[in-house]
Amino acid sequence: MFYPPQAGKLVISHLDMAQTIKILPDSLANKIAAGEVVQRPASAVKELIENSIDASAKSITIIIKDGGKSLIHVVDDGEGMSAEDAAMVFHRHATSKISSYEDLENIRTLGFRGEALASITAISQVELRTRTEQSEIGTKVRIDGSTLLDISEESSPKGTSIQVKNLFYNTPGRRNFLKSNTTEFRHIADVVQRIAISHPDLKIVFISDQETVFDLKPSSLQDRIKAIFGEQLADSLIYFENETDFLNIHGYLGKPNFARKGKTEQYLFLNKRYIVNRTINHAVFNGYENLLEKGSFPLFILFLTLDPHKVDVNVHPTKLEVKFEDESAIYRFVMSGVRKGLSKYDLFPSIKIEENQLSSGKLTHSFFPTRDAARSQENRWEQLYQRETSPELNAARGGESQIESCLQSVQSNIWQVHNKYILVPVENGIMIVDQHAAHERILYERVIARFNKKENASQQLLFPHTIQMTPGNALLVKQLLTDLEKLGFNLKLFGTTTIIMDGIPMDVKPSNEDSILQDIIDAYKEDEQKIKLEPRERLAKSFACMAAIKTGEPLNGSEMLSLLNQLGETEIPTVCPHGRPVSIKLSLSELDKRFGRTS
Ligand code: ADP
Ligand code: MG
Repeated sequence: MFYPPQAGKLVISHLDMAQTIKILPDSLANKIAAGEVVQRPASAVKELIENSIDASAKSITIIIKDGGKSLIHVVDDGEGMSAEDAAMVFHRHATSKISSYEDLENIRTLGFRGEALASITAISQVELRTRTEQSEIGTKVRIDGSTLLDISEESSPKGTSIQVKNLFYNTPGRRNFLKSNTTEFRHIADVVQRIAISHPDLKIVFISDQETVFDLKPSSLQDRIKAIFGEQLADSLIYFENETDFLNIHGYLGKPNFARKGKTEQYLFLNKRYIVNRTINHAVFNGYENLLEKGSFPLFILFLTLDPHKVDVNVHPTKLEVKFEDESAIYRFVMSGVRKGLSKYDLFPSIKIEENQLSSGKLTHSFFPTRDAARSQENRWEQLYQRETSPELNAARGGESQIESCLQSVQSNIWQVHNKYILVPVENGIMIVDQHAAHERILYERVIARFNKKENASQQLLFPHTIQMTPGNALLVKQLLTDLEKLGFNLKLFGTTTIIMDGIPMDVKPSNEDSILQDIIDAYKEDEQKIKLEPRERLAKSFACMAAIKTGEPLNGSEMLSLLNQLGETEIPTVCPHGRPVSIKLSLSELDKRFGRTS
């Protein structure tokens, strides 16, 4: 027999069962929700500061006691709240920041869920003082565990002051989970520090147990970083930026030699919100290629700016995690941005080759010059060349061109050993270069640059070659055709297995032309299983590897010199595209040590 439900009591049958499902009172629901939003005092601090920022505060003061356990007090000079609004804040989903689903998709404030204050007031004793620009008198609200105690008028400065006392006083379970005051303090300091980095234009004062931890005045990002990390560390950072229509990235990268053994010093901000994202961290790490020692991690401070529509920040109440619409595009963008950023700096130890005395005095030639140095070097060669080729001068001097004799003397100072390594004396030591890896790096960068060019650079073959491939490989060629053409291949496909090739890339040795395409496709497939890379990058790696000078190939002096010079022009001359080292430097002091010399 079925009885319709009655108010307050649901009778299912003649058995008199008590009602089991109830709507929880607000105060209890808020307490439960608080567990998600406020895990520890630091989470409350974060929410309060974010509210101040959303209220356009210029100055924020944070005062805590006992690691925030007994007091968290945040004062701002922001917009403040009206008396009506101030009376609302302890209700869940009370927010002024969004009102529709469209707003949720286009979030530009740090808060939007309307649950932070409801959660905080559910588990603590709160005193809120606030005043807007328009109102003459301020409002004071006292709330104790979701219960509104009183609202009164009180004269107060423009802005908002929120005192949170005895956090978790009514949730002993959670209170017992808190760590020592020092540990909780550290978590709070981390929160304040992140906000300070992402908002350098804010004045921030942070006082813990009467001691001033931060007193930061509004400044540029660079000065803010100096104020927080100290001059020395700040000086070891490289600024970089990279921009596309949909994403902008800027920030600081630690030089590899300052890398740490832990991952703690990594700051990632998305639209000024501190986030944790393993994919992006990995992309940054990958951007360093093998510039880092195993097990060490670079310090970085990165700011990503992205259209809010392209990212979901509403993944978790703490808003630490985000979901990107196109994560792999972000990955590639971050990685290449970091790579470019690092390449601008001369991370390679400066190495100079002593040359002969030239007419204009001593000239040192650096094989791994910085961009500018390379340019001025070129100029010097040019000047010399002009001087050498001017007929009057030549006639006056007569004999062999000094340039040639100089080149010869450099070449005679370079040795190839076992048709594998090139040995070059450099300032304070000797450098050993892996000829294959070096050429790979050169070709790789050339190919990547070529992908971005309009015209295809190809050398025409006298007689077209017919290549037979497996249907799978031929299909792959078809898929990669546009990029292969960019590389310089001229290909036509017939049926499912026949390819006619009548043009090959400039860098391919004529004897190599038959197998090169097959080799590239094989290498491409092998890489496909090992690493996740963009097709173009994978193709560039495969091509570079296949077309590069092989180990075992003898090289003459000018070939070696040209190889070294081209290597010096690359963006990252220290590692090959697969991450292996290209060159190793043995310093004189190292040699001296091994020979037991003191000098
Ligand atoms: P949310 O930030 O997600 O909107 P909160 O619970 O953190 O939710 O805050 C609720 C509302 O209280 C905010 O939307 C805002 O209108 C108001 N508010 C909170 N803190 C401040 C502040 N410091 N200054 C001005 N308004 C504030
Ligand atoms: Mg908020």
